[in-house]
Amino acid sequence: GATIQLEDLSKSYPGSPSPAVDGVSMDIKAGETVILVGPSGCGKSTTLKMINRLIEPTSGRIRINDEDVTDMDPVKLRRKIGYAIQSSGLFPHMTVAENIALVPKMTGWSKSGVKDRVEEMLDLVGLDPREFHGRYPRQLSGGQQQRVGVARALAADPPVLLMDEPFGAVDPITRDHLQDELIRLQHELHKTIVFVTHDFDEAIKLGDRIAVLRERSHIAQFDTPEAILTN
Ligand code: ADP
Ligand code: ADP
Repeated sequence: GATIQLEDLSKSYPGSPSPAVDGVSMDIKAGETVILVGPSGCGKSTTLKMINRLIEPTSGRIRINDEDVTDMDPVKLRRKIGYAIQSSGLFPHMTVAENIALVPKMTGWSKSGVKDRVEEMLDLVGLDPREFHGRYPRQLSGGQQQRVGVARALAADPPVLLMDEPFGAVDPITRDHLQDELIRLQHELHKTIVFVTHDFDEAIKLGDRIAVLRERSHIAQFDTPEAILTN
């Protein structure tokens, strides 16, 4: 894992009267799982997308392991940050293997390295490589798609994993199962995870620390699940 520091990070969308995110600052420790929880529209996704530069911040800085990455080339940033989203975000015209291989290829892994890595990642998320390698996303169940989404996010072995409602689109039983697997992965891999949800129970279950957000990503509380439950 790597440390992440957000320093007074803000985003105003063009034409919008008030900022979507207004000055969020946060220190995240190496290897911890921090949950951003709060109502729909409070700026969780915008905050996450600023960390991996899918959205340019209006102001503020982002540091990963004390390195300022605010202006880093987004492709270079892919080596540091994996990203998994709701409904898996898989490319429908690519097979499972091609989806998982995407970022390692983009960041210059060797052909044989990528091939081995795809198998390793499928094993890691509990899918038999021989069965799932050549399938297209539409040939998978919702839970299987989410697994492949997580495999893809981890494929280039980034120290940081950003997850935006990754289990939001699956049924409650599958979700519970995927949550348990994420906990197992976290014990095995020690990634620094920033995980967005609007589900408080999910936050309590998965978080080392939870940031409770109000409108414009103002932090109302930032503490362990135990401390938040007793307050
Ligand atoms: P959350 O993830 O907490 O639901 P978002 O970060 O998606 O919140 O959105 C925060 C605010 O920014 C909302 O008011 C939303 O309508 C607005 N917003 C999000 N994306 C855009 C965009 N591309 N253009 C303009 N406004 C946006
Ligand atoms: P669930 O959502 O309970 O996992 P599904 O009906 O989506 O159940 O899938 C059951 C099994 O059939 C899964 O192993 C899935 O990968 C497989 N499967 C689903 N659709 C296809 C398909 N179009 N081609 C091949 N296998 C499929």
